[in-house]
Amino acid sequence: MTNLNENTENVLLPITEFSADDEKFMRRAIALAKIADSHNEIPVGAVVVCDGKIVGEGFNQSIMNNDPSAHAEMMAIRDAGIKINNYRLLDCTLYVTLEPCPMCAGLLVHSRINKVIFASKDLKTGAAGSAFSLLNHEKHNHQVIAQAGLLNDECSTMLSAFFKRRRAEKKAEKKQKATINLSSD
Ligand SMILES: [Zn+2]
Repeated sequence: MTNLNENTENVLLPITEFSADDEKFMRRAIALAKIADSHNEIPVGAVVVCDGKIVGEGFNQSIMNNDPSAHAEMMAIRDAGIKINNYRLLDCTLYVTLEPCPMCAGLLVHSRINKVIFASKDLKTGAAGSAFSLLNHEKHNHQVIAQAGLLNDECSTMLSAFFKRRRAEKKAEKKQKATINLSSD
C-alpha cells in the first residue's frame, strides 16, 4: 500500500479507507466543482467539515473575481472561519476534488486544519506529495494529514473534460481570428 505521508510516521494513514460520510462530503465538493465549471473556471470544489457537518463551502472562482487567491480551498476555509467564528479550524477536515496547490497547502497549515481528503492528484503543482510535500513538512509546527483517491475517477474525468473543452474553444477562437484576417485582406 502506498501512502502520501510515508515519511512522517505520526500521520501515517492508509489511503484506501474512506467512510460513507467521506463519500457524501466529496460528492458535495464535486457539486461545487460543477458550479465552477458552469462559469468556465477550472472545476474544483471544496467543503470543510466539522463535527460531521459542513461548515464551509467553496469553488474555484479566480477568473470571475479577478482574484488569483480565490481557489476552492481558500473560499471554503474563509467561509468556515466565519461560520465557526474562529481563525483556527482544529478538528476539521477539508474535502477537495483536486490536490491542493502550494498556496492552499500553506493556508491549510495556517488554519491548523486536521486533515485533507482530495480526489485527484495534481502532478504538476500538487503540494500534498505530487510536486511538493508541504502539508507535513517537518519545518512546519503543524502537520496536516492527507488522503488521496476518494472518487478520483469522477473528478479526473471532470477536469480532463474541462481542459479538452477549453482547448477546443481556444482552437475555434484562433480559427475565427484567422478567418477575419483573411476576409479583411
Ligand atoms: Zn490552491
